[in-house]
Amino acid sequence: MFKTLIIISLFLLTACSSPADVQDTRFIMGTLVKFTVVKGDHDLDDVEAAISAAANEMQRIEDMFTIYGNHPNAVKSFNASMPNTPIALPDEVNQLLERSLSIQQQSNGAFSPVLGAVNLLWGFSGENPPSAPPSADAIRAAMPAAHCIKKQPDGSDLHKWSRTHANCQLDFGAIAKGYAIDQGIKILKAHGIQHAIINAGGDIRLIGKHGERAWHIGIRHPRKQGDVVEALNLQGDVSIVTSGDYERFFIYKGKRYHHLINPETGWPATSAQSATIIASSATLADVWSTALFVQGQQGIKLQNHLQQKVLLIDYNGKIYGSLKSNPDSH
Ligand code: ADP
Ligand code: MG
Repeated sequence: MFKTLIIISLFLLTACSSPADVQDTRFIMGTLVKFTVVKGDHDLDDVEAAISAAANEMQRIEDMFTIYGNHPNAVKSFNASMPNTPIALPDEVNQLLERSLSIQQQSNGAFSPVLGAVNLLWGFSGENPPSAPPSADAIRAAMPAAHCIKKQPDGSDLHKWSRTHANCQLDFGAIAKGYAIDQGIKILKAHGIQHAIINAGGDIRLIGKHGERAWHIGIRHPRKQGDVVEALNLQGDVSIVTSGDYERFFIYKGKRYHHLINPETGWPATSAQSATIIASSATLADVWSTALFVQGQQGIKLQNHLQQKVLLIDYNGKIYGSLKSNPDSH
């Protein structure tokens, strides 16, 4: 009897155990990016080469879009360009800018790609994270007009853009990470990988399954470290991104200040603690999680309209929506 039990439990253990994963973690875009690939029949060398190629692609995107550091790029050049003087942007920047401007409109300005000067002033993504807010005067002085980016008016060159004043500075911080994840997945797929996750500090896109099972994803509680608000089993092709006020923040005189800025005021948005979106790409999930964070409860209707799943935890800790019942989950 005892022996049978041992055999059965061994069998169950084997049946339930995870398949062999290849994991790698790189520091890209200011965060730890974790790659998990189900090895399957692939050669280990091939999987490692695929992960390296994906990581290199994500690094390329960071270099192209970042407004930090000393390496020149087109976005930094634009941000330093003479106001009202059109300059050309590379195709890829042009495309993400077009998408950003359209989502700025759709989100009623909650997502704004022209907050560069304000974000640099707050300094959350800089080398020395802040411990006190800037002065109200400094914030006012750094604020851009909402629609300060103009396309070349005569339409002769669709890739030329100008800015109306010096405070109008591009910042793709709320969308570029999602875009980089999408490109990373594209590279993995091009290498024949069908089952994988890229997790960039909680911004996730997953493909396929984890062996016999779905991938297991937990949504972090914004206030109780180690607690999970929802646990999900997801498979297929799912992008899931959270914007929260608990990763880059400081407490000053008893008040929390964080890196998600209300574009109307230039101060941290006060509608939510965290906003999670499931969308058809990591780019969309990234951009909309930021917008929903800023909009709070009133943004949920738009997400329903866009058919994107939402989990919002408002400023008081009240939970709205659920990411469960995704067609791909079970
Ligand atoms: P995380 O980088 O923590 O994943 P997000 O994707 O929400 O978070 O992006 C936050 C970054 O986006 C900020 O660091 C800043 O650069 C920029 N940002 C802050 N507020 C806004 C906003 N309202 N619209 C667009 N970008 C923003
Ligand atoms: Mg975002």
